[in-house]
Amino acid sequence: MEAYKSDKSLDHLNKALFFPDPGLTCKRTVLGRDCKDQNCRAVHDETSLNCLLNVLRFAKHTLDVCVYMITCSVLGNALVECQERDVKIRVITEIRNSGEEGEVIGSQIGKLRNAGISVRCSSSSFWMHHKFLVADNEILVNGSFNWTNQAVMGNYENLIITSEETLVQPFITEFQRLWDHLGPTGVAEE
Ligand SMILES: [Zn+2]
Repeated sequence: MEAYKSDKSLDHLNKALFFPDPGLTCKRTVLGRDCKDQNCRAVHDETSLNCLLNVLRFAKHTLDVCVYMITCSVLGNALVECQERDVKIRVITEIRNSGEEGEVIGSQIGKLRNAGISVRCSSSSFWMHHKFLVADNEILVNGSFNWTNQAVMGNYENLIITSEETLVQPFITEFQRLWDHLGPTGVAEE
C-alpha cells in the first residue's frame, strides 16, 4: 500500500493557477524541452497553461474531461498525445460549442473524435457549463477556465488542482453520472 502511495506522481501538482498567462508558452517548453532559440519571444517560465498541461502529461491511465468549450489547439493536441500513449480519455462538452451543430471556430471536438477519443455532447436545455477534469481518478482540476486561447491569454480565470480525496471523489461520481445520463448519442432530455 505504501508503495502504491509513493507512486502517486501527480501529487506534487497540487496548486492554484491564475490566468491570463503573460504570453504564449514556448512550444518547446510545452513539450518539456529547453528552448535555445535566441529569437524566441514566447514565455519560458512556468505558466499556468503549462501547469495544466503537466496534469495531462503525468496522467497514466484515465482522463475524464468535462469542459464547456474546447477550442485551444495546444490543449486539444495534448489530449491526442495522451490518447496515443493509451490513456483512456472521455470528454463531455456542450454541443453548442462542439462544432457539430454549425461551425465553431477552432473547435477541437472533431479532431478528438478522429483520434479515437470518446466524446459525449450534451444537447439538453441545460447548458453543460462545467470546467473540470479528473486524471487517474486521483487529481481534480476545476475552476472558471474554459479550454480556449481567450481564457489562456485574455481573461482573468482560475483553476485549482487538488488530490484531496473528499473533493476528487464527488467529481468522479458526477462525471460518471453525466456520462451515463448522456449515453452514446449524447442526447439527454431533462
Ligand atoms: Zn522558446
